[in-house]
Amino acid sequence: MALEVAVGKKLDYAVPEKLRGSIDVGSSVRVPLGSQMRTGYVVSFSDQPSFEPVKEIAGKVASRFAVPRKLLEVAEWVSDYYCAPLETALKCVVPASVRRPGARFKEIALVKRARTIDATREACVRSRRGAPKQAAALEVLIKAGKEISLKELCEESGCSPATVRRLEEMGLAKVEKRRMERLALKDEIYLRSEPKTLNAEQQVVFDSICKDVDSGAHAVHLIEGVTSSGKTEIYLQAIGRTLEKGKSSIMLVPEISLTPQTIERFRSRFGEEVAVLHHRLSHGERHDQWHKIRQGKARIAVGARSAVFSPSPNLGLIVLDEEHDASYKQSELCPTYHARDVALYRGRNENAVVLLGSATPSLESFYKAARGKYCLGRLSKRVDDRPLPRMTVVDMKREADKRKGAAIFSDALLNAIEKRLERSEQTMVFLNRRGYSTALSCRSCGEVLECEDCSVALKYHKKDDLLMCHVCGKVSPVVTACPSCKRGTLAYRGVGTQKVERLLKRIFPQVRILRMDRDTTRQKDSHFKILRDFKVGKADVLLGTQMISKGLHFENVTLVGIISADTCLHVHDFRAAERTFQLIMHVSGRAGRGEVPGEVVVQTFRPGHAAVLAAKAYDYAMFYREEMKDREELRYPPVGHLVSVTMTGKDEGKVKEEAGKVARELAKRLGERAKVLGPAPARIVRAKKMYRYKALVKCVEVAPVTIAYKNVIRELKLPRSVRVGIDVDPVSLD
Ligand code: ADP
Ligand code: ZN
Repeated sequence: MALEVAVGKKLDYAVPEKLRGSIDVGSSVRVPLGSQMRTGYVVSFSDQPSFEPVKEIAGKVASRFAVPRKLLEVAEWVSDYYCAPLETALKCVVPASVRRPGARFKEIALVKRARTIDATREACVRSRRGAPKQAAALEVLIKAGKEISLKELCEESGCSPATVRRLEEMGLAKVEKRRMERLALKDEIYLRSEPKTLNAEQQVVFDSICKDVDSGAHAVHLIEGVTSSGKTEIYLQAIGRTLEKGKSSIMLVPEISLTPQTIERFRSRFGEEVAVLHHRLSHGERHDQWHKIRQGKARIAVGARSAVFSPSPNLGLIVLDEEHDASYKQSELCPTYHARDVALYRGRNENAVVLLGSATPSLESFYKAARGKYCLGRLSKRVDDRPLPRMTVVDMKREADKRKGAAIFSDALLNAIEKRLERSEQTMVFLNRRGYSTALSCRSCGEVLECEDCSVALKYHKKDDLLMCHVCGKVSPVVTACPSCKRGTLAYRGVGTQKVERLLKRIFPQVRILRMDRDTTRQKDSHFKILRDFKVGKADVLLGTQMISKGLHFENVTLVGIISADTCLHVHDFRAAERTFQLIMHVSGRAGRGEVPGEVVVQTFRPGHAAVLAAKAYDYAMFYREEMKDREELRYPPVGHLVSVTMTGKDEGKVKEEAGKVARELAKRLGERAKVLGPAPARIVRAKKMYRYKALVKCVEVAPVTIAYKNVIRELKLPRSVRVGIDVDPVSLD
């Protein structure tokens, strides 16, 4: 039994006589725990309880659906691999909208006549004097013809539900409840799209995928294909093929790409077979979509990370678009699962094909493909043979020397923008930092203004004239004198999107700019509004953070400028080069998607960096070769695994001390099987008043580490003031 409350382990219960036969693996039951009743799921049966005496299961939760066995297995795998309590993993496979009390299909009450029209008319006339409300209701009923919803009937006739009930008692009306699906995509009409004739490269890749889809065997395919090379068309056709075999598919895209544009591509090909799970759904809509998938009524589930847990029966295919994307990893919440690895497990466990695609595959995936574990397919050309945009890399150090001072825009970028303004073409400008300035520092003592609760510099937000912490979100008023030395004045250092916007307007007074970052997209739908305005030409420049780096398609954009390609390179993370490469490749993919060839200007202080050079040549293989040298040497992923253990608490000394103990114990127990680094302060050592220390474990296999970790935590009995968390295969070392 796995309970929904956190008890950290499975518990045994006896099945009473009256419930034999009606309880199965996956059933939801009520059981006594201490003096209370709790609900949970049956995960397995055994003849021999692990302790005695066992209590009895009190009853079945009739209103709940049994969790499909395969999904329970996924939960158990997630719990095991990511070292997370089973109850948290179960919450992934049975989402809150399905689990919560009162979760059910919406029912609508329909009213119709119980007698003939003539008889009803007679009754209507009769009641006009004594019961005018009843008469009005009957009149509407007669007009309505067949049937009408109770709500409409009341609204139109001005009567109350009680009046209708009275009519029912009198044998004049009949009320019926009917199940309704809350439509996630109301009133949307899609033009039907037909499969396109594949080009030669696409055909080769598609045939190879089909072989596995047809045979129904598990296999993993990786497509490395430049942006706009027709990967999505292959996903669509592979899903179509899976459907022909009578099986269901799961299509995963990064959260940020789950736009109406994307949804439309799937809806227009497969119509009602598509269920979309996105975060804007209400609880009710999500509940209905989930069951529609579970019942096999929608055999294609489209969604972000969490859709990997879709209850698809008879699963044949799981697709991950942009498989390198960091949003597939749940880093903030337990379990810290990676949707790609969950997909790979499900593929093996349910005999399904897993299809990964990206212009810049993760090293994890490409490494496996290079060693023959995955089938590798390549799409080297854009559809219609459109050229990839020409890329200019500008050395910002040289620009600074030229002007005897720091430059934000290079001449190359300004000239290119000017040309676009003259030709009425559009430009996208990318900078991975929001706000106005990235730090305030004292001109006299050099002190950087930090958040009170976090060890990060405060950012200045010009529009609100406020200082903001990007870790905890706290805002404070602007100060002019240095709070540390009380003498010096403060200088705004670094550039954020707000400053770029202001400076651009100063240089080109006529330019129309739309800015898209977390600050301009707080309101629901503001996201879509900005993109729509840009699409219809209401602005010359779209300026933004990573929000604009992926998946967008604007034919009139012929120039992309990257203000600083180095924002990722400064971070001391072994994935820094990989992120930089991905960033340049994806941002530049936004240019030249229409008739006019595109141009990209990349500004950097490190023009000779391997990641920049490889991106300039659009050469993934080159990047892979270079980057793998470092990874091999340091035994970093994909060569080995990492597990990070984080200790958090208010008292820095205590946190440091306990982290030291845990790290030493882990090292002792793991011996040769792993290398324990640290503990060291996390990059942001203080966040929201809590200090954070990290130990990093490098290992060949994860299981010995998680087992050792569990034992260490159980035996060390850490003080309550220090919390400990584990992240298996972390994507960020912050
Ligand atoms: P990617 O997913 O690699 O970015 P897409 O599949 O979105 O590429 O393809 C880019 C554009 O080219 C889309 O508008 C798509 O409909 C079109 N396309 C893809 N394959 C073909 C094909 N074989 N023939 C004609 N057009 C195609
Ligand atoms: Zn803060």
